[in-house]
Amino acid sequence: MAGLSIRDARKSFGDTEVLKGVSIDVADGEFAVIVGPSGCGKSTLLRAVAGLEELDGGSIAIGERDVTALAPSERGIAMVFQSYALYPHLTVRENMAFALRIAKADKRAIDEAVRRAAAILNIEELLDRKPAALSGGQRQRVAIGRAIVRAPQLFLFDEPLSNLDADLRVRMRYEFAELHRALGTTTLYVTHDQVEAMTLADRIIVLRDGRIEQVGPPRELYERPANLFVAQFLGSPR
Ligand code: ADP
Ligand code: MG
Repeated sequence: MAGLSIRDARKSFGDTEVLKGVSIDVADGEFAVIVGPSGCGKSTLLRAVAGLEELDGGSIAIGERDVTALAPSERGIAMVFQSYALYPHLTVRENMAFALRIAKADKRAIDEAVRRAAAILNIEELLDRKPAALSGGQRQRVAIGRAIVRAPQLFLFDEPLSNLDADLRVRMRYEFAELHRALGTTTLYVTHDQVEAMTLADRIIVLRDGRIEQVGPPRELYERPANLFVAQFLGSPR
Protein backbone atom coordinates (compact mmCIF):
# COMPACT_ATOMS: atom_id res chain seq x y z
CA MET A 1 0.00 0.00 0.00
CA ALA A 2 0.99 3.59 -0.47
CA GLY A 3 -0.31 7.10 -0.23
CA LEU A 4 -1.09 9.38 -3.14
CA SER A 5 0.35 12.82 -3.72
CA ILE A 6 -0.97 15.09 -6.46
CA ARG A 7 1.03 18.31 -6.89
CA ASP A 8 -0.31 21.34 -8.76
CA ALA A 9 -2.19 19.31 -11.41
CA ARG A 10 -3.10 21.41 -14.45
CA LYS A 11 -5.09 20.43 -17.49
CA SER A 12 -6.80 22.29 -20.31
CA PHE A 13 -8.94 21.06 -23.18
CA GLY A 14 -8.45 23.66 -25.92
CA ASP A 15 -9.12 27.03 -24.31
CA THR A 16 -10.94 25.52 -21.34
CA GLU A 17 -8.83 25.23 -18.22
CA VAL A 18 -10.32 22.25 -16.38
CA LEU A 19 -7.74 21.69 -13.60
CA LYS A 20 -6.25 24.93 -12.34
CA GLY A 21 -3.54 23.69 -10.02
CA VAL A 22 -4.94 20.92 -7.82
CA SER A 23 -2.85 19.49 -4.98
CA ILE A 24 -4.13 16.56 -2.92
CA ASP A 25 -2.45 14.25 -0.44
CA VAL A 26 -4.16 10.98 0.43
CA ALA A 27 -2.46 9.17 3.29
CA ASP A 28 -1.57 5.49 3.13
CA GLY A 29 -4.80 3.58 3.81
CA GLU A 30 -7.01 6.68 3.78
CA PHE A 31 -10.44 6.86 2.10
CA ALA A 32 -10.63 10.30 0.46
CA VAL A 33 -13.76 11.48 -1.33
CA ILE A 34 -13.90 14.21 -3.97
CA VAL A 35 -17.21 16.03 -4.29
CA GLY A 36 -18.21 18.86 -6.57
CA PRO A 37 -20.75 19.81 -9.20
CA SER A 38 -20.93 18.29 -12.66
CA GLY A 39 -18.16 19.57 -14.92
CA CYS A 40 -15.82 20.76 -12.15
CA GLY A 41 -13.03 18.38 -13.22
CA LYS A 42 -13.49 15.34 -10.96
CA SER A 43 -13.27 12.71 -13.69
CA THR A 44 -10.43 14.52 -15.44
CA LEU A 45 -8.46 14.49 -12.21
CA LEU A 46 -9.09 10.78 -11.61
CA ARG A 47 -8.24 9.92 -15.20
CA ALA A 48 -4.99 11.86 -14.86
CA VAL A 49 -4.10 9.90 -11.71
CA ALA A 50 -4.85 6.68 -13.59
CA GLY A 51 -2.69 7.80 -16.52
CA LEU A 52 -5.61 7.97 -18.95
CA GLU A 53 -5.22 11.73 -19.34
CA GLU A 54 -1.89 13.54 -19.67
CA LEU A 55 -1.45 16.57 -17.43
CA ASP A 56 -0.21 19.90 -18.83
CA GLY A 57 1.60 20.53 -15.56
CA GLY A 58 2.13 19.09 -12.12
CA SER A 59 3.05 15.66 -10.84
CA ILE A 60 1.57 12.52 -9.33
CA ALA A 61 3.34 10.22 -6.89
CA ILE A 62 2.16 6.93 -5.40
CA GLY A 63 4.17 6.13 -2.33
CA GLU A 64 7.71 7.15 -3.16
CA ARG A 65 7.24 6.59 -6.90
CA ASP A 66 6.71 9.51 -9.27
CA VAL A 67 4.23 8.00 -11.75
CA THR A 68 3.56 11.16 -13.79
CA ALA A 69 5.21 9.75 -16.92
CA LEU A 70 4.23 6.09 -16.45
CA ALA A 71 1.70 4.17 -18.53
CA PRO A 72 -1.60 3.28 -16.78
CA SER A 73 -0.60 -0.37 -16.39
CA GLU A 74 2.63 0.60 -14.62
CA ARG A 75 1.00 2.73 -11.93
CA GLY A 76 -0.33 0.06 -9.56
CA ILE A 77 -3.83 1.53 -9.72
CA ALA A 78 -7.25 -0.01 -10.28
CA MET A 79 -10.09 2.24 -11.42
CA VAL A 80 -13.84 1.57 -11.40
CA PHE A 81 -16.10 3.76 -13.51
CA GLN A 82 -19.76 4.64 -13.38
CA SER A 83 -20.35 2.51 -16.47
CA TYR A 84 -18.68 -0.73 -15.51
CA ALA A 85 -18.41 -2.48 -18.87
CA LEU A 86 -17.89 -6.19 -18.29
CA TYR A 87 -16.93 -8.55 -21.09
CA PRO A 88 -20.33 -10.02 -22.05
CA HIS A 89 -18.94 -13.27 -23.49
CA LEU A 90 -16.92 -14.10 -20.35
CA THR A 91 -18.18 -15.50 -17.06
CA VAL A 92 -17.87 -13.53 -13.84
CA ARG A 93 -14.83 -15.63 -12.91
CA GLU A 94 -13.19 -14.93 -16.28
CA ASN A 95 -14.05 -11.23 -16.09
CA MET A 96 -12.40 -11.00 -12.68
CA ALA A 97 -9.36 -13.02 -13.76
CA PHE A 98 -8.86 -11.11 -17.00
CA ALA A 99 -6.21 -8.59 -15.91
CA LEU A 100 -4.22 -11.28 -14.10
CA ARG A 101 -4.33 -13.53 -17.17
CA ILE A 102 -2.98 -10.68 -19.29
CA ALA A 103 -0.24 -10.19 -16.70
CA LYS A 104 0.51 -13.93 -16.98
CA ALA A 105 0.00 -14.69 -13.30
CA ASP A 106 0.01 -18.42 -12.56
CA LYS A 107 -3.29 -20.22 -12.53
CA ARG A 108 -3.34 -21.07 -8.84
CA ALA A 109 -2.61 -17.47 -7.85
CA ILE A 110 -5.39 -16.25 -10.16
CA ASP A 111 -7.93 -18.74 -8.75
CA GLU A 112 -7.02 -17.76 -5.22
CA ALA A 113 -7.26 -14.00 -5.92
CA VAL A 114 -10.67 -14.44 -7.59
CA ARG A 115 -11.93 -16.65 -4.75
CA ARG A 116 -10.88 -14.14 -2.10
CA ALA A 117 -12.36 -11.17 -3.95
CA ALA A 118 -15.61 -13.08 -4.55
CA ALA A 119 -15.82 -13.90 -0.83
CA ILE A 120 -15.31 -10.26 0.16
CA LEU A 121 -18.03 -9.14 -2.26
CA ASN A 122 -20.36 -12.03 -1.54
CA ILE A 123 -20.59 -13.09 -5.17
CA GLU A 124 -19.20 -16.64 -4.90
CA GLU A 125 -22.38 -18.17 -6.26
CA LEU A 126 -22.25 -15.93 -9.34
CA LEU A 127 -18.80 -16.92 -10.58
CA ASP A 128 -20.01 -19.14 -13.43
CA ARG A 129 -22.67 -16.75 -14.72
CA LYS A 130 -22.39 -14.36 -17.64
CA PRO A 131 -22.97 -10.62 -17.06
CA ALA A 132 -26.36 -10.71 -18.85
CA ALA A 133 -27.67 -12.97 -16.06
CA LEU A 134 -26.76 -10.45 -13.33
CA SER A 135 -28.60 -7.51 -11.78
CA GLY A 136 -27.11 -4.01 -11.91
CA GLY A 137 -25.81 -4.27 -8.38
CA GLN A 138 -24.26 -7.66 -9.02
CA ARG A 139 -22.54 -6.34 -12.12
CA GLN A 140 -21.10 -3.45 -10.22
CA ARG A 141 -19.82 -5.89 -7.58
CA VAL A 142 -18.07 -7.84 -10.33
CA ALA A 143 -16.50 -4.61 -11.62
CA ILE A 144 -15.21 -3.93 -8.11
CA GLY A 145 -14.03 -7.54 -7.91
CA ARG A 146 -12.00 -7.02 -11.06
CA ALA A 147 -10.28 -4.13 -9.33
CA ILE A 148 -9.67 -6.06 -6.11
CA VAL A 149 -8.00 -9.09 -7.70
CA ARG A 150 -5.24 -6.87 -9.03
CA ALA A 151 -4.29 -5.96 -5.44
CA PRO A 152 -3.57 -2.35 -6.45
CA GLN A 153 -1.79 0.17 -4.26
CA LEU A 154 -4.56 2.65 -4.97
CA PHE A 155 -8.27 2.40 -5.81
CA LEU A 156 -9.89 5.08 -7.94
CA PHE A 157 -13.70 5.11 -8.03
CA ASP A 158 -15.54 7.51 -10.33
CA GLU A 159 -19.19 7.73 -9.22
CA PRO A 160 -19.39 3.93 -9.03
CA LEU A 161 -22.94 3.90 -7.65
CA SER A 162 -24.62 6.61 -9.67
CA ASN A 163 -26.18 4.18 -12.18
CA LEU A 164 -27.86 2.15 -9.44
CA ASP A 165 -31.30 2.73 -7.97
CA ALA A 166 -31.62 4.44 -4.60
CA ASP A 167 -32.04 1.32 -2.43
CA LEU A 168 -29.11 -0.43 -3.94
CA ARG A 169 -26.99 2.70 -3.67
CA VAL A 170 -27.51 2.72 0.07
CA ARG A 171 -26.61 -0.95 0.43
CA MET A 172 -23.54 -0.65 -1.78
CA ARG A 173 -22.38 2.32 0.26
CA TYR A 174 -22.01 -0.01 3.23
CA GLU A 175 -20.24 -2.53 1.06
CA PHE A 176 -17.63 0.05 0.13
CA ALA A 177 -17.11 0.79 3.81
CA GLU A 178 -16.76 -2.96 4.50
CA LEU A 179 -14.40 -3.37 1.60
CA HIS A 180 -12.20 -0.61 2.91
CA ARG A 181 -12.19 -2.12 6.38
CA ALA A 182 -11.22 -5.50 4.92
CA LEU A 183 -8.49 -4.35 2.55
CA GLY A 184 -7.37 -0.94 3.82
CA THR A 185 -6.35 0.11 0.32
CA THR A 186 -5.72 3.83 -0.21
CA THR A 187 -8.78 5.14 -2.03
CA LEU A 188 -9.78 8.24 -3.99
CA TYR A 189 -13.54 8.14 -4.55
CA VAL A 190 -15.59 10.61 -6.60
CA THR A 191 -19.27 11.24 -5.98
CA HIS A 192 -21.79 14.03 -6.23
CA ASP A 193 -23.90 12.40 -3.49
CA GLN A 194 -23.49 14.25 -0.21
CA VAL A 195 -24.58 11.35 1.99
CA GLU A 196 -22.27 8.96 0.22
CA ALA A 197 -19.38 11.35 0.85
CA MET A 198 -20.29 11.89 4.51
CA THR A 199 -20.65 8.13 5.10
CA LEU A 200 -17.51 6.90 3.39
CA ALA A 201 -14.90 9.60 3.70
CA ASP A 202 -12.04 9.91 6.15
CA ARG A 203 -11.59 13.27 4.44
CA ILE A 204 -13.67 15.13 1.89
CA ILE A 205 -12.15 17.27 -0.85
CA VAL A 206 -14.51 19.86 -2.32
CA LEU A 207 -13.70 20.71 -5.92
CA ARG A 208 -15.20 23.65 -7.75
CA ASP A 209 -14.35 24.79 -11.23
CA GLY A 210 -10.94 23.10 -11.26
CA ARG A 211 -9.84 24.31 -7.84
CA ILE A 212 -10.06 22.93 -4.31
CA GLU A 213 -12.42 24.89 -2.07
CA GLN A 214 -11.93 23.00 1.18
CA VAL A 215 -10.47 19.75 2.54
CA GLY A 216 -11.32 18.16 5.85
CA PRO A 217 -13.07 15.39 7.76
CA PRO A 218 -16.82 15.16 6.99
CA ARG A 219 -17.85 16.55 10.34
CA GLU A 220 -15.60 19.58 10.03
CA LEU A 221 -16.94 20.47 6.59
CA TYR A 222 -20.48 19.95 7.80
CA GLU A 223 -20.10 22.10 10.89
CA ARG A 224 -17.62 24.66 9.62
CA PRO A 225 -17.94 25.02 5.86
CA ALA A 226 -15.37 27.55 4.60
CA ASN A 227 -17.89 29.36 2.40
CA LEU A 228 -21.40 29.33 1.03
CA PHE A 229 -20.48 26.97 -1.79
CA VAL A 230 -19.20 24.27 0.56
CA ALA A 231 -22.16 24.87 2.86
CA GLN A 232 -24.58 24.29 0.00
CA PHE A 233 -22.85 21.02 -0.83
CA LEU A 234 -22.16 19.60 2.58
CA GLY A 235 -22.99 22.06 5.28
CA SER A 236 -25.41 21.85 8.13
CA PRO A 237 -28.87 23.14 7.13
CA ARG A 238 -28.94 25.64 10.00
P1 ADP B 1 -16.86 16.09 -13.73
O1 ADP B 1 -16.37 14.69 -13.69
O2 ADP B 1 -16.57 16.85 -12.48
O3 ADP B 1 -18.30 16.18 -14.10
P2 ADP B 1 -15.10 16.33 -16.02
O4 ADP B 1 -13.73 16.16 -15.50
O5 ADP B 1 -15.71 15.16 -16.71
O6 ADP B 1 -16.05 16.87 -14.87
O7 ADP B 1 -15.11 17.53 -17.05
C1 ADP B 1 -14.64 18.79 -16.72
C2 ADP B 1 -14.73 19.70 -17.93
O8 ADP B 1 -13.82 19.26 -18.93
C3 ADP B 1 -16.09 19.73 -18.58
O9 ADP B 1 -16.35 21.03 -19.02
C4 ADP B 1 -15.94 18.79 -19.75
O10 ADP B 1 -16.80 19.14 -20.79
C5 ADP B 1 -14.49 19.01 -20.14
N1 ADP B 1 -13.88 17.82 -20.75
C6 ADP B 1 -13.68 16.63 -20.13
N2 ADP B 1 -13.06 15.76 -20.94
C7 ADP B 1 -12.87 16.41 -22.12
C8 ADP B 1 -12.27 16.05 -23.37
N3 ADP B 1 -11.73 14.86 -23.57
N4 ADP B 1 -12.25 16.99 -24.35
C9 ADP B 1 -12.78 18.23 -24.14
N5 ADP B 1 -13.35 18.63 -22.99
C10 ADP B 1 -13.40 17.73 -21.99
MG1 MG C 1 -17.36 12.86 -13.91
